[in-house]
Amino acid sequence: MTQLLSLIVPFYNEEEAIGLFAAAVPPVLEAIPDMAWEIICVDDGSRDATLSRLLALAAAEPRIRVVELSRNFGKEAALTAGLEAARGDAVIPFDADLQDPPALIPVMVAAWRDGAEVVLGRRSDRSTDGAMKRGTASLFYKFNRYISNIELPENVGDFRLMDKVVVEALKRLPERQRFMKGLFAWLGFKTVVVDYTRTPRAAGKSKFSGFKLWNFALEGFTSFSTTPLKIWTYLGATGALAALLYAVFIILRTLIVGNSVPGYASIFVAVTFFGSVQLISIGVLGEYIGRIYVETKQRPVYLVRKFHNF
Ligand code: UDP
Ligand code: MG
Repeated sequence: MTQLLSLIVPFYNEEEAIGLFAAAVPPVLEAIPDMAWEIICVDDGSRDATLSRLLALAAAEPRIRVVELSRNFGKEAALTAGLEAARGDAVIPFDADLQDPPALIPVMVAAWRDGAEVVLGRRSDRSTDGAMKRGTASLFYKFNRYISNIELPENVGDFRLMDKVVVEALKRLPERQRFMKGLFAWLGFKTVVVDYTRTPRAAGKSKFSGFKLWNFALEGFTSFSTTPLKIWTYLGATGALAALLYAVFIILRTLIVGNSVPGYASIFVAVTFFGSVQLISIGVLGEYIGRIYVETKQRPVYLVRKFHNF
């Protein structure tokens, strides 16, 4: 019996990478035995020639389908759009820049046919990623392990094979703010890991800059943990206890040696310190309230202008 494999590829300003992608990927899919395939290209509101090139590919190959989003919604939303359009028995999110090696796809399919429901691609070597990105990524995973009750597998991106049941489960998660790494990890299912080496981008530039990654990390913490909300209770209690002890000390000292009116420095330090701590805690509250606000609006995660070849 032939099975169907869906590849989901988000494209945002990838005109330079498309040619390489179209040359490298379909032959690999074609070579998998007893497997029909579709490539779902999601154009995430590109402002260059990406869309017209995708449509040219789709005109020549009916198994290349294009989901045209109404504007740039971000990679997570684009992946969601692709997942909802995919009909495969197995689904693989894949980067347009060929940083995920196509040669791993048959390996993942083999593991899936052996009974795995999720096959994770793990980067055994991130040397293409700059020291800064690796360092901050490692910090992110460490901190996340502390505060969150789901464990994110380290060095694992969106590149993975998912069985249809897993995709159906994923579609049932209703949140608007979709931190995919976390959602994937939350699902569970029978998981197998295959290692690969992350290659440099085939063409073009990375779309994720420092501040975008920082926001991405915040998203990760707040989507899956309420610990940042709760620590203030303990910090506050500790501060109050320290203040109480200090008060007792001052009262006793005044009773024993009298009042000498010192303490400008200590008052100043205490006021500014606790003022800042309060502002930080309000900031953390703000992060969560902002997310509650976004969720309650119930806006769709993405909007489609047009489906091609569906
Ligand atoms: N991408 C997208 N929307 C965005 C940003 C990126 O669809 O707003 C796509 C991009 O075209 C690529 C994938 O997401 O196919 C990964 O992006 P990139 O290679 O820039 O990320 P990196 O590999 O540097 O983490
Ligand atoms: Mg990339």
